[in-house]
Amino acid sequence: LDEEDEQLVQGYFAVPDNAPTQKPVGVLAVVGRPNVGKSTLVNRILGRRAAVVEDTPGVTRDRVSYDAEWAGTDFKLVDTGGWESDVEGIDSSIAEQAEIAVRLADAVILVVDGLVGVTASDERIVAMLRASGKPVTLAVNKVDNQANEYLTAAFWKLGLGEPYSISAMHGRGVGDLLDQALDQLEHAEQTSGFLTPTGLRRVALVGRPNVGKSSLLNQLAGESRAVVNDLAGTTRDPVDEVIELDGQDWLFIDTAGIKRRIHKLSGAEYYSTLRSQAAIERSELALVLFDVSVPISDQDLKVMSQAVDAGRAIVLVFNKWDLLDDFGRQRIERLWETEFNRVTWAQRVNLSAKTGWHTNRLTRAMNQALESWDKRIPTGKLNAFLGQLQAAHPHPLRGGKQPRILFATQASNRPPRFVIFATGFLEHGYRRYIERSLREEFGFEGTPIQISVKVRE
Ligand code: GDP
Ligand code: GDP
Repeated sequence: LDEEDEQLVQGYFAVPDNAPTQKPVGVLAVVGRPNVGKSTLVNRILGRRAAVVEDTPGVTRDRVSYDAEWAGTDFKLVDTGGWESDVEGIDSSIAEQAEIAVRLADAVILVVDGLVGVTASDERIVAMLRASGKPVTLAVNKVDNQANEYLTAAFWKLGLGEPYSISAMHGRGVGDLLDQALDQLEHAEQTSGFLTPTGLRRVALVGRPNVGKSSLLNQLAGESRAVVNDLAGTTRDPVDEVIELDGQDWLFIDTAGIKRRIHKLSGAEYYSTLRSQAAIERSELALVLFDVSVPISDQDLKVMSQAVDAGRAIVLVFNKWDLLDDFGRQRIERLWETEFNRVTWAQRVNLSAKTGWHTNRLTRAMNQALESWDKRIPTGKLNAFLGQLQAAHPHPLRGGKQPRILFATQASNRPPRFVIFATGFLEHGYRRYIERSLREEFGFEGTPIQISVKVRE
């Protein structure tokens, strides 16, 4: 098999093949004030320039959490370096920024600048970290050489235990730092809820600010007997809520808890992305909200892509339907045919979070999407189907040769992933045709599916 070429279906929103196979041990956040070297450290840990180090302030990144690995241990790494605060009120904003990241994490690396020494901002962050109760490893960065080791001693006074001197830029000391941080992470209480097994289906409510996430949550909670729970591990700040809908309990992840603060911050979009990504990662299903009363923006579509690219089941919620007139409804239908043509397989529910109109239609769509997400097609059935498909529509000739499908199997579910063995490269159009046909035959409504092709000579 090693010799074989592999091609991935990138049509529509195929699921990336690098989806983690092993369970991450938890979530590690890298925090600290601006310019101490957080992004440089994140890049160093990831071993590639994934988190682009920006020299220009104000450039927001849309990627904030990464699958990372160190010495055989998989974990989630959250980068908070993408955010630029206003110059005014910088200290309190930094503390809030770190606070949010910390809430989403199980353990923390606090980065400080060895060349600058202990600052008031550092101390404020330490106070917040202490209040959070999460384990912290202290990294004194920019200690680029042995001669500068002496700089580290000053940081003992932060009271976080041994300061680890590192040079994120040159890699110096980063190994020892990670050994310590991951040791803490592995023994940490799983407060991010990332791995908390609850037995309930996990739902993330996502969408850019103001689409109506809180309104929908309140509406749904109001309809049910609204069990707003302190689940294990979230007692400090309940952000997950159990809501009963049509007699079934659902776990709504990372809900309204942080909202008030976010709206005050200039980094609102950044946090929104950070939170939606973290919520999506913990979820099985994403309810992606859109505000139909205003034009659909790139950020709207980006949130949707986050969910699909993460391989989650999705339901698209077209909210604020009560604000549409006939003309508006036509506009939405046109939009549906264009902007949303890559997710024709997703279910869409038009509703009004404000009035409650059609919110009772959600559970059917949610159950349907999760059923598709869980689905397994028996190998025999799959191959019989692909055999028929190939007989009816063979792959076009390429250079006098005709690539043939030899065999296929569903390698996994949640979401469904298929591996097809073929005698040659299957062209893009044909792979999309296969995906469409699989969907027509087997459903898969509401879930992304992945198809990879292995070429066997
Ligand atoms: P962030 O704002 O905390 O994410 O900081 P960045 O990673 O963007 O780094 C801020 C600046 O510090 C950049 O100019 C980096 O090149 C520099 N820097 C980061 N790590 C080191 C280091 O280990 N040594 C030195 N000398 N400079 C560093
Ligand atoms: P979030 O930022 O996504 O949580 O959005 P909110 O739930 O705070 O809603 C933003 C604004 O849209 C608020 O003023 C809501 O009252 C309003 N809103 C939310 N849903 C609806 C709806 O279905 N219809 C109307 N007319 N307004 C809505």
